[in-house]
Amino acid sequence: MTNPILDPNWQQDALDPSLDFFEQTLAVRGGYHRTDEGEHSEAIFTTSSYVYASAKDAADHFNGNKKGNVYSRHTNPTVRAFERRLALLEGGERCVATASGMGAILTMCLAYLKAGDHLLCARQLFGSSVALFDTYFKPLGIEITYVDCFDNDAWQNAVQSNTKVLYCESPSNPLAQIADLSYLSKLAHDNGALLIVDNCFATPAIQKPLELGADVVIHSASKYIDGQGRVLGGALIGSDELMEKAFTVIRTGGISLSPFNAWVLLKGLETLSIRMKAHCENANQIAEFLSNHPNVEKVHFSGLPSHPSHEVAKRQHSHLNVNGGAFGAIIGFEVKGGQPSAWHVIDNTKVISITNNLGDAKSTITHPATTTHFRMTPEARIEAGVNDGLIRLSVGLEDVNDIINDLKRGLDSLTI
Ligand SMILES: *Cc1c(COP(=O)(O)O)cnc(C)c1O
Repeated sequence: MTNPILDPNWQQDALDPSLDFFEQTLAVRGGYHRTDEGEHSEAIFTTSSYVYASAKDAADHFNGNKKGNVYSRHTNPTVRAFERRLALLEGGERCVATASGMGAILTMCLAYLKAGDHLLCARQLFGSSVALFDTYFKPLGIEITYVDCFDNDAWQNAVQSNTKVLYCESPSNPLAQIADLSYLSKLAHDNGALLIVDNCFATPAIQKPLELGADVVIHSASKYIDGQGRVLGGALIGSDELMEKAFTVIRTGGISLSPFNAWVLLKGLETLSIRMKAHCENANQIAEFLSNHPNVEKVHFSGLPSHPSHEVAKRQHSHLNVNGGAFGAIIGFEVKGGQPSAWHVIDNTKVISITNNLGDAKSTITHPATTTHFRMTPEARIEAGVNDGLIRLSVGLEDVNDIINDLKRGLDSLTI
């Protein structure tokens, strides 16, 4: 079978579109249209506009008789290469890139919701997503309900006749909670709604939501897709029809990705799967170390058989062959003794960076209750499961023994 995303009209594609390829080959070579210069590494097109052969040619580009670049807010060859490569990896017809992950979530709201519609969301969401929905979309007349991402009955009970979008992250931040994507896609489609999944934590290397029935996948490419904490970027992936709606919003609203960032992210995709395998292997060992430490109260990681969604996670994270399973590399863990203990563990690290970014080659550590979640009321924090002893760790690519020793230092010296 030929792959439809490798466009047969692009004669200079780095991959022959009449052949079928394994995924890692697509990650390294897919989606790029080599120029006449014959460059081996993908080129960065830093241009805002494009030149036409004649006045008629210009008119044809504007009136749609001819396909081609007009302005880089609309399309850009480097951005397009990133979009095509990510679409191949997620298994979607088309991808449209945005300036950041939040840009993709804003695009989702503007493209698929209007006044009078109902947005049914997981409660376990990236903080800025909740702020965007509540601050800007509620006043515009969009109804919003939050339910626990792992509670299928709660989702079902909250569906309304005007529900247009079901939205979740899986695994979620910082407690690694898992939404049952097959169940949610059926629920959405039975009710004439879309299921949209933020796949930032799993990435297409581990989980492909479109295969599980989701209609649109959203990414903050700033995390694992870049993988080294250098640039911001985002994307939506889905059918041509749904992506055309998103593209119109991005083009008109100016939420477009820069060519330089697209290039960094394009290169990030080449090593994504290999990096995710190493991230996951490190995380599995660290989760085991933490769950055996006497000063750790609880470990939130769907790779542990004791995690309530372990089986669902195993089923959904089916795309990466990792010793012990692929469960991502974000671990939440609660230390005994609340906030002073958590700060002690964090302050005794000498390798892990104290920063709230995640999905980086460098391990990062944060105390959610006093940073990412500090704006929430104490009641809302408790409801979200973010207690004072909780630490979030994004497991990087350092030697796993150094990460373990870094945590051990603070954990061993706790006096509780
Ligand atoms: C970081 C993040 C976002 C927002 O992405 P930006 O690129 O920072 O705008 C959205 N969703 C999740 C799950 C994230 O971790």
